[in-house]
Amino acid sequence: MCVEERPCCEADRRVIKLSLSKKDIDPVTVLCLGAHADDIEIGCGGTLLYLKSNLPRLRFHWVVLSASGLRGQEAAKATELFTAGRDKEVVLKDYRDGFLPYNGGEVKDFFEQMKSQVNPDLIFTPWYGDAHQDHRLVSEARLEYL
Ligand SMILES: [Zn+2]
Repeated sequence: MCVEERPCCEADRRVIKLSLSKKDIDPVTVLCLGAHADDIEIGCGGTLLYLKSNLPRLRFHWVVLSASGLRGQEAAKATELFTAGRDKEVVLKDYRDGFLPYNGGEVKDFFEQMKSQVNPDLIFTPWYGDAHQDHRLVSEARLEYL
């Protein structure tokens, strides 16, 4: 697998070209981080399905931080559909929607624990410049892996 950054027409943006070679990294572990049910599917669902169709030993570690009640059921169903037939670890937490920054200590502890258990090859998160505070917090938390 090769990740290549290329300058785009705007100086502060980059287009990342992802080339896949089935023999470069096998298996590939993808860490998918969502603040809410549907964040992962809407944000990178097409890319995940592409990876799944091209990497026979793709493994998912799927995390949604605010997925309680009906939204939790939605997240569980979507996760099953996107990861069907693959090794996976699914973690659905029940932090209050819209309040992730106010649970920052607990979220940080969760990421610290996960970091010791998951060693991903790729990480998908919301964009750090997103308007929603929960999305920004999840994006910043992924820095634990850098
Ligand atoms: Zn969201």
